[in-house]
Amino acid sequence: MTPLEFDQKHLWHPYTNVEKPGPTFVVKETEGMHITLDDGTKLIDAMSSWWCMMHGHRHPKITQAIHDQLDRMPHVMFGGLTHDPAIELGKALLRVAPPSMQRIFYCDSGSVSVEVAMKMAVQYQHAKGFPGRSHFATIRSGYHGDTWKAMSVCDPTTGMHHLFQGALSVQHFVDRPPIRITEAWNDDPALNGLGDLRALIEANHREIAAFILEPVVQGTGGMYFYHPEYLNQARAICDEFGVLLIFDEIATGFGRTGKMFATDFCSIEPDILCLGKALTGGHISFATTMTNDRMAEGIGNGEPGIFMHGPTFMANPLACAAARASLELLEAQDWHGTVNAIATQMTQELAPARDLPNVADVRVLGAIGVIEMKHRVSADEAHALAREMGVFLRPFGTNIYTMPPFIASPDEVSKICAGMLHLARVL
Ligand SMILES: *Cc1c(COP(=O)(O)O)cnc(C)c1O
Repeated sequence: MTPLEFDQKHLWHPYTNVEKPGPTFVVKETEGMHITLDDGTKLIDAMSSWWCMMHGHRHPKITQAIHDQLDRMPHVMFGGLTHDPAIELGKALLRVAPPSMQRIFYCDSGSVSVEVAMKMAVQYQHAKGFPGRSHFATIRSGYHGDTWKAMSVCDPTTGMHHLFQGALSVQHFVDRPPIRITEAWNDDPALNGLGDLRALIEANHREIAAFILEPVVQGTGGMYFYHPEYLNQARAICDEFGVLLIFDEIATGFGRTGKMFATDFCSIEPDILCLGKALTGGHISFATTMTNDRMAEGIGNGEPGIFMHGPTFMANPLACAAARASLELLEAQDWHGTVNAIATQMTQELAPARDLPNVADVRVLGAIGVIEMKHRVSADEAHALAREMGVFLRPFGTNIYTMPPFIASPDEVSKICAGMLHLARVL
């Protein structure tokens, strides 16, 4: 049995049919912009390995930080103990996060940080005397992870809620904000989506703990960029009805949109903020749930006082060290200029896709470039075609997209754009 045969017989991959797995490339090594396959083929990783590798693969500063930490303390429990990696990362996070986000919960992955956020919201409402507020409001086309509670606030169609009916908590959905970030804001609640949100919250606030959504950029649910004014006004509606606001910035955090956080497009802050993906520069699984003093005090002064969550690998020192190194790398560079330059180049080089018959839309925000097709595209076919162009691209749904590492050179960005155009032409 070849290694690939073993893989295909025994290993499950994300969102795949284990009986009929698609073509899979064997990766031998990664470095910088590149993934090297077992036959020596080098591919530009246009996906930043699911949006995480913002500094490129195997960055020497991050691997060094992990090595150094490994030699001292790979792990220790966080119950009753603490350590410098956790504390120093906390300081770094407070430097960049929205100012009210003063309390930090470290956890293992994005989905878990969403679970933690939702649990915080319910516990806060319970502590404040509203035990009935245990459901959530959200917008359609969202994505918040694959664990149960996170899945319940994912888009009901793409999240296959019908399949899990009965096992999934029923939540309250409104349409995604209709006004795009590139369009002029319209104050008419019938046209900007806030009328529907207000009606939903007004009717159901007695059972809603929080309104959860991805600010400005909906990722997996459609790569859709909406107007931040929606969030400013949603905050006011939430406040009016005692509903908390959770921002899931697992995909958008750390400069990806051209702002440090998508929250920075807004004039308001959420009550709870989820971060993951690029947090460790993509080198180790890690995430955080940050919240404000009001939430922490509310939970702490209520019944039972303790917050009911504590993963075994909470604040893992290797992950903390990687995250700190990644944040320091980001802070030490002109990431804003870099992301803007990538955005400008992608805007120019993806524009010709607009003239292709099967293309519905082309859009760029920060270091996110999207060609939306009129039909669904096969990731497996795309894989093979992009490989011939020296690029690793993995579209989903109708979207051929890239989230390149920030270290991408103009030449590499060009190769990515050429690969995307090629896919848009032939798929
Ligand atoms: C990827 C993602 C998650 C889930 O993170 P995992 O680390 O895969 O569990 C949650 N929310 C958003 C917005 C994401 O992009």
